[in-house]
Amino acid sequence: VLGGLRKRLLSPYPFIRRLISTLVLAEHEGGLVKPSSMSSVAAARAISEENPISILLGGTGPTLQEAASHAASFHPSISQVLIADSEKLKHPLAEPWADLIHLVQGKGGYSHIIAASTSFGKNVMPRAAALLDVSPITDVTTISGPQLFVRPIYAGNALCTIRYAGSDPCMLTIRPTAFPLSSMTSGRVSDTAAISQVDLSTFSEESNGKSRWLNHTSQETECPDLGNARIIITGGRGLKNAENFKLIEKLAHKLGAAVGATRAAVDAGYCPNELQVGQTGKIVAPELYIAFGVSGAIQHLAGMKDSKTIVAVNKDEDAAIFQVADYGLVGDLFQVIPELLEKLPEK
Ligand code: FAD
Repeated sequence: VLGGLRKRLLSPYPFIRRLISTLVLAEHEGGLVKPSSMSSVAAARAISEENPISILLGGTGPTLQEAASHAASFHPSISQVLIADSEKLKHPLAEPWADLIHLVQGKGGYSHIIAASTSFGKNVMPRAAALLDVSPITDVTTISGPQLFVRPIYAGNALCTIRYAGSDPCMLTIRPTAFPLSSMTSGRVSDTAAISQVDLSTFSEESNGKSRWLNHTSQETECPDLGNARIIITGGRGLKNAENFKLIEKLAHKLGAAVGATRAAVDAGYCPNELQVGQTGKIVAPELYIAFGVSGAIQHLAGMKDSKTIVAVNKDEDAAIFQVADYGLVGDLFQVIPELLEKLPEK
């Protein structure tokens, strides 16, 4: 017992002894915890293997309970699942969620709080950090110790190592692609974690500050989600218009891939902006990334250059995308894609 406890009392300064415990702010959908939030659990494990992890889920209705059961049986390192059942948490508004984190931290006294760098995490964590009077560290890609983190800066052109010297909690947003679930050893659990309700009796019932939830629109698609897809087919301005962009969708469908786009393609209205990959879009790292008519601007590369294998098709042999591509084809995409569609077998 003492040995285990000693391992959890980690500090770079021998005179400061801190007990490690982590709260993971999780998102859920359709009764399942999202894979990006599970990556936060992988990140928490990187802080210390002896790290008791609590998952915080909010919202209301039966899917909240289902997501709690899913979280409770995900990994043995999860010691408890906390459910905050409230209408106010039904939508991802920063104000009530930040209040919730403040409340839960007051009771749990966690050394670390982690969320994925999704639009939800990026929205909520800075506000919660302000309420807790600490400075958050965002977009973490490597955790080298309880207080030592690496994050990309200048659109991924430099890596910055940060030693956190503030007070508890140390608040992090992590890039899910940097903490794949495959990095976690032995998944299944025989004993599921305890599920308990957060006491919301002191939860502020005031309005949501200046934010108001209007609506949520998303495209119905059979394609996998960009964030989790094994293969991504991306189209750039070289597609020329929305009608031609359907070639990208057809190819993606045939390969069971997700569709991505450059900002230029999104801004020109070829496809919805939720497909944008890059510095101001989604950060992805699939097994295979195929880019058609994409020049390879630094802001686009910032979102995809960690993909395992990159293939680029561009008619300009000097296009910057070829500098990061493992396989490059100098050619006209309007010839290459139809040929691929013809030759690839049906799924
Ligand atoms: P272009 O640069 O116009 O390239 C089109 C390419 O298609 C060319 O290389 C051309 O040779 C090729 N092509 C044309 N016709 C064909 C054909 N028939 N066959 C084959 N190839 C062909 N961009 C992003 O993508 N994501 C971001 O998140 C992002 N964030 C940004 C943030 C900031 C602050 C700023 C300033 C910019 C950002 N951008 C982002 C924009 C970025 O700088 C580029 O403008 C954009 O990525 C270019 O998109 P593109 O490659 O589709 O277009």
